[in-house]
Amino acid sequence: MISFHDFKLNDAITQALAEQKYLTPTPIQVQTIPPVMTGHDVIGIAQTGTGKTAAFALPILHRLAAQERPALRKSCRVLVLSPTRELSSQILDSFRTYGRHLRIRTALAIGGVPIGGQVRALLGGVDVLVATPGRLLDLVRGNALRLGDVECLVLDEADRMLDMGFIHDIRKIVAKLPAARQTLMFSATMPRAIADLAAQMLRHPVTAAVTPVASSAELIEQRLIRVDRHAKPAALVDVLRREAADRTLIFTRTKHGADKVVRYLTGTGIAASAIHGNKSQNQRERALAAFRNGEVRILVATDIAARGIDVEGISHVINFDLPNVPETYVHRIGRTGRAGAAGTAISLCDKEERAYVLDIERLIRKSIPASDRAAPASRLEAGTKPKIGRAPAGRPGKRQQARHAGTARKTGHKSRQHGGDSETAYSIGSVAFMRHPSSARAVASPRRNASPI
Ligand code: AMP
Repeated sequence: MISFHDFKLNDAITQALAEQKYLTPTPIQVQTIPPVMTGHDVIGIAQTGTGKTAAFALPILHRLAAQERPALRKSCRVLVLSPTRELSSQILDSFRTYGRHLRIRTALAIGGVPIGGQVRALLGGVDVLVATPGRLLDLVRGNALRLGDVECLVLDEADRMLDMGFIHDIRKIVAKLPAARQTLMFSATMPRAIADLAAQMLRHPVTAAVTPVASSAELIEQRLIRVDRHAKPAALVDVLRREAADRTLIFTRTKHGADKVVRYLTGTGIAASAIHGNKSQNQRERALAAFRNGEVRILVATDIAARGIDVEGISHVINFDLPNVPETYVHRIGRTGRAGAAGTAISLCDKEERAYVLDIERLIRKSIPASDRAAPASRLEAGTKPKIGRAPAGRPGKRQQARHAGTARKTGHKSRQHGGDSETAYSIGSVAFMRHPSSARAVASPRRNASPI
């Protein structure tokens, strides 16, 4: 087995790794560290959670330490571009952690915070600058930063940057960099557009790939609940009350949608907070910290905001909206079931999203067990508190529902876990289902009355 000592990284870095209790390198680190140390360009195909940040940060720090020189004024030697503020902050933290015994100057250039501090931080020059593309260009335009001294460029989450429309900014930035530089590109997926970009920007790159996106979902129990769009909030409450969830990450397509879900959950007595681009940096950091330390067990996020967030122990991922890009589904559900832990991913799917499911199933090469949720209209209107608690198989009476709802409120959503390998009867609202161990799909009992989508 390879150990970090085999890479012959600078001793100060190896010491920091030992302090971090990193014993063995992850597969992406094994593949990436040696070529980056020798100055090669690298394409890394890896998602968050694979250790990809250290895969580029460690050899970059090693090279900086080996060729120590003062950075020029208003310049950086290493430029790391990432799509979101959160991811940028995390990358910077990693550089600081791994480089804590080196004399490395670092800075962060992200939007959403005043630019003055960033201008000042860059005055004397830095070794490593981690930035989001928009703010970086603002700094360049304002003459606070010159890019002619960059020795190494890292593009992290390149596919996401493309999705977010950063391609023009990236091209503008790359045009200002010296041609003789090292370029590292990391992406969870390798769609055609990314391969084209890599072909233009990288020279004879070494390719390092781990967990092909289509197979990364193997460990995760996936389920689909077919539900009318207007009944999704109530269906979500059902799920939260039924599942024994430690930490749940809920995805919505829009920022507005994330806020609406939080408002609905809060109205039913379920504590949740939202994280998305309209929130201030402070609000986002607070929400994330509360989620990390267990104060809030439900975080509602958009794909962009959730990207790169590294939180351990997410037991459940719920897709309130299904993504229209199948790879995004795999990214989302990959936030649970990390490091070999079991995780559950539940998707609420309305009629319009049916086509997305077909694309997703094609990508992951398996069908997702599906069940229907009936939509008793009266209690699904927005603003009506659903009285659904632990529903035993069969239809609970009104009083029983109310009692269960009370219990669920007191104990949070940690009320009941169903599933497992054995045949299990369970109910969702007024619909009873039978899970068969041998069949992929849950089979509804004859009294089911929901229309298949
Ligand atoms: P990343 O994919 O870069 O977001 O890393 C995911 C998590 O794995 C982070 O919390 C890192 O601190 C951690 N990590 C990275 N490399 C290692 C390693 N070799 N051993 C243990 N943990 C690691």
